Amino acid sequence: MAKKFVRAIFPGSFDPITNGHLDVVSRGMKLFDELVIAVGRSPIKNQLFTPEERVEMIAELITGMPGVSVEPFEGLTVKYAARKKADVILRGLRSLTDVQYEFQLAMTNRAVAGIETIFIMTSEQYGFTSSTLIREIASLGGDLSNLIPKTVHERLKQCLKKTGRQAQGSRSETSSDSEDAILNT
Ligand code: ADP
Repeated sequence: MAKKFVRAIFPGSFDPITNGHLDVVSRGMKLFDELVIAVGRSPIKNQLFTPEERVEMIAELITGMPGVSVEPFEGLTVKYAARKKADVILRGLRSLTDVQYEFQLAMTNRAVAGIETIFIMTSEQYGFTSSTLIREIASLGGDLSNLIPKTVHERLKQCLKKTGRQAQGSRSETSSDSEDAILNT
C-alpha cells in the first residue's frame, strides 16, 4: 500500500520562537512530509514582535530543513488548516500544565472541524521554556544562550531597546502574574 502524504501545520504565537519550539519542529519534520509553521496574529494577546518579524526570524532558522516552511495566518486555526489542506495540527507539550489546555483545544478542533492534533513532547531541557518567560528574562538582561537561537536573542535585544524595556527591573506588559511570581521568588 502506498504511503499517504501527510501535511501538518504547527500553529502558535512564536513571540519569539524558542529552542523548545525548534525542538518540536525538528522532531515533527521526521514524522510529516510537509510541516508548515503557522504564525498567528492574535487580536487578544499583546505581542512583542509583529507577525512579519516572527516569520522572518523563523524563516532564517529553517533554511536547510526539508519540508518545513513558515507563514503568517489570521483567524481560526481550523479554517486555516482547511485552506492548507492539512491532515493534522501539531502542538508541543512541556508539562502537565500544558496538557489540560491543549486537550481542550484539540477536542474543540476535532469537534468543530474533524481534524486531529498530534502532540510532541519537548526535550527535558526545554520543559520550562516559554516565549513569555524569554521576553521577561531578556527585559531583565538575563542569559538566554541555551534557550533561544543567537539571531533571535539579537532581535530581542534590539526590540526591547527600541521599546525602552531593557532596563533592570523593568516589567514586561505581556507577562502573566504566575510567571511574575516565578521570577520574583
Ligand atoms: P500559543 O499562543 O498558540 O500557545 P506558543 O508559541 O506559545 O503559541 O506555542 C505554540 C506551541 O508550542 C504550543 O503547542 C506550545 O505548547 C508549544 N510550546 C511552547 N513552548 C514550548 C517548548 N519549550 N517546548 C515544546 N513545546 C512548546
